[in-house]
Formats: sequence, C-alpha cells, structure tokens
Amino acid sequence: MNVVTEHLSDFASLFFPNLCASCGCAMNKGEEVICSFCQYYLPKTNFHLEKNNTIEKHFWGRVEIYRASSYCYFQKGSRIQHLIHELKYKRKLEVGVKLGKMYGAELNECKDYDSVDLILPVPLHKSKEMQRGFNQADLLCEGLSDAMGKPWKKNILIRTKKTETQTHKTRFERWQNVGSVFDITDSKFLEGKHILLTDDVITTGSTLEACANSILAITGTVVSIATIACAVK
Ligand SMILES: [Zn+2]
Repeated sequence: MNVVTEHLSDFASLFFPNLCASCGCAMNKGEEVICSFCQYYLPKTNFHLEKNNTIEKHFWGRVEIYRASSYCYFQKGSRIQHLIHELKYKRKLEVGVKLGKMYGAELNECKDYDSVDLILPVPLHKSKEMQRGFNQADLLCEGLSDAMGKPWKKNILIRTKKTETQTHKTRFERWQNVGSVFDITDSKFLEGKHILLTDDVITTGSTLEACANSILAITGTVVSIATIACAVK
C-alpha cells in the first residue's frame, strides 16, 4: 500500500470503521475480521496437541480416523457460536476464511498434520448450497489451505441425497440416514492420500463418519478430521 492509499484507507475508516465480527468493536490497524481480544478469548480445545482426545474417542469403534480435532468448544452464547452464526446466516464469508486461517496456523504446530495431502469440505447437497449461496465448509478449507500450504478441492466428495434433520434420531437411525448419501467423483485422484475432512461443527459425528467411510473405501487413503467447533459430549 502506498502513502496515498494508506491515507485514504485511514480516512475511509473514519466513516466505515473496520469492525470485529465477534464483538462489533472498531479494530486496530493490522487486525482483520476478528479482533485480537476476541481471538485470545476463543474457547479453544487444543485437541490437536492431544492424542486420543475427546473427538478421536468419539469415533472409536465406528471408523478409523488418524487424527481428529476441533478448534473450539461450541458453548452456548460463546464467541465461536456467534462467529459461526455470522458466517452461516449473515453471510459474512470472510469469517469462515479467517477461522480456517487461524486454525490452520495452530494445526501447523502438530507434526501429525504435516502428511496431509488434500483438504476436503463436507459437502452440502447441491440444492441446499444453491439456496444458501455457499458452503461454509468451503470457506474454512480456503483458510486452512492458505495457512497450511495444502491444496483443497471442491466437488470430489459430493452429497447425492438430501437428508432430514438429525436431531431427533437415535444413533442407528442417524447412521442409516447418512449411510449412503456421499459419493466420490474421482477415486483415482484420492488413492494413497491423507485427507483432512473439514466441517464447521461436529455434534453426533455421523456425517463425518459417513464421509470418512466413502473415502476409506479407496485404496491407501488415511482420514483426519478438523472442525471449527465441537458439541461432542
Ligand atoms: Zn472482538
């Protein structure tokens, strides 16, 4: 940025201050999307530094996952709940990319994620994505990819069936519900790769389990999971 544009942007910020997507306060120069204070006070899990963490245990006996982690605890009324709401329902797409970047920087601290070859978003059904205008998981992938220096790809793992809401189902019904709704468009491309599956929130894990099973059916694949928030009990 040259001196003139810098002055112009200072001038513009008087009228259009750069506001934090979490607390709404005007941010300082150099801060982007989420202010330093809110970043510091996010309810982080640090699961990526802990083998056999809560999320990994959640998949035990269900599907073989190499590493699984989630950036934050999904607490009601927390900063992370607010940020995910801003992303999904207020269409603040930059929040998704920013959260992905922040989490990617932390995942880089753990060697187990060095071997990731490709980041894949948990897909929405085409009609749902059309309706929303975007898939929030794509934006997280974009940020993770940027911070981790790994590629991400859309439309390789696809959702072929619309599913009903999972909330009032038993674990078996949920498993039946998502069991065969995902498909891979290019199996050859995924052969032998370590895939990092990404979604915004993990609750029951049934969706991620179904995605992982579709990928693991391909020769030589390894699956890890990274989500932004976890509501796993
Ligand atoms: Zn803030």
